[in-house]
Amino acid sequence: MIDLRSDTVTRPGREMLEAMMSAKVGDDVFKEDPTINALEEKAALMLGMEAALFCSSGTMTNQIAINVHTRPGDEVICDKLAHIYLYEGGSIARLSGSSVNLLSGDRGRFTVEDVKAAINPDDIHRANTSLVAAENTMNKGGGAYWDINELKKISSICREKNLAFHLDGARLFNALTETGERPEEYGNIFDSISICLSKGLGAPVGSLLLGKKDFIKKAIRVRKALGGGMRQAGYLAAAGIYALDNNIKGLKEDHRRAREIGKVLEALPYVDEVFPVQTNILIFKLSEKMKDTDFIAKLSEKNIKAIIFGPQTIRFVTHLDFDDSMMEEVITALRNLR
Ligand SMILES: *Cc1c(COP(=O)(O)O)cnc(C)c1O
Repeated sequence: MIDLRSDTVTRPGREMLEAMMSAKVGDDVFKEDPTINALEEKAALMLGMEAALFCSSGTMTNQIAINVHTRPGDEVICDKLAHIYLYEGGSIARLSGSSVNLLSGDRGRFTVEDVKAAINPDDIHRANTSLVAAENTMNKGGGAYWDINELKKISSICREKNLAFHLDGARLFNALTETGERPEEYGNIFDSISICLSKGLGAPVGSLLLGKKDFIKKAIRVRKALGGGMRQAGYLAAAGIYALDNNIKGLKEDHRRAREIGKVLEALPYVDEVFPVQTNILIFKLSEKMKDTDFIAKLSEKNIKAIIFGPQTIRFVTHLDFDDSMMEEVITALRNLR
């Protein structure tokens, strides 16, 4: 089976499993798990942040950040395609009682002018704008990555207006692989960053929330309140350390394979449009000749899985467990589809 539904489908290999099996562990709620502590220190250093917090998922790290940065009744500025808004169970409202001001960016990437226009004036009739959130790479935007200069401009407006600036960096390392930027530059731009270890980096579980020490102290309290305090989770953190040490370099290959499939798709008669392929996410629109559900069923007959990502819209995601021979199989299957 070739699974292109998501980069979350990877399974830990032998070396990662060995690192997990030999991890030293303790009770993390007492901050006594040496492997979790090591992972948090390592990630904070990498991203130029003071501290980090290991959590079970990217939804949890994002929503903890939103909860710390806002008060009930506040407003969060983000793109209308943002994962925090579309795919996290309504948690901005459910857990933090905030509303959203949705921007219409270019495949999820908005500008500093968009942000300026969306900040509410200091008026008792209006919700208090307290947070701006960006996503890099943009999942629903087809893996598009940001221009760091725009992020820097947004960051300075946020500082000027006393707003927090959060990054959903579930796939930040995919973006950095293409831009060649150093991850520590991102620590200066944002008040908080979430990164996923269980996407392209191939760990079985886990995300990290990064920020200043006082922010992380508040985040630990929220994580506990959400039931997210874990005990001997160092076995999972060991997979995260292994992933950061070994699996960033392979992202380039994931991107190359996505681009190669993208080129093939562009030439197919049943494909109307392929979003520009910048990283490991490929989004394309089928023509009227091919119904989305038929497409998925036909691929499935060839043992290939993908997901429908909107009407007549398909998403493929390349990952660590998808190699060149699988890519050739997918390309052959796509060319032979009628
Ligand atoms: C996957 C993902 C997350 C986190 O999802 P979890 O499944 O909760 O780990 C957050 N943001 C983006 C953009 C994602 O793709």
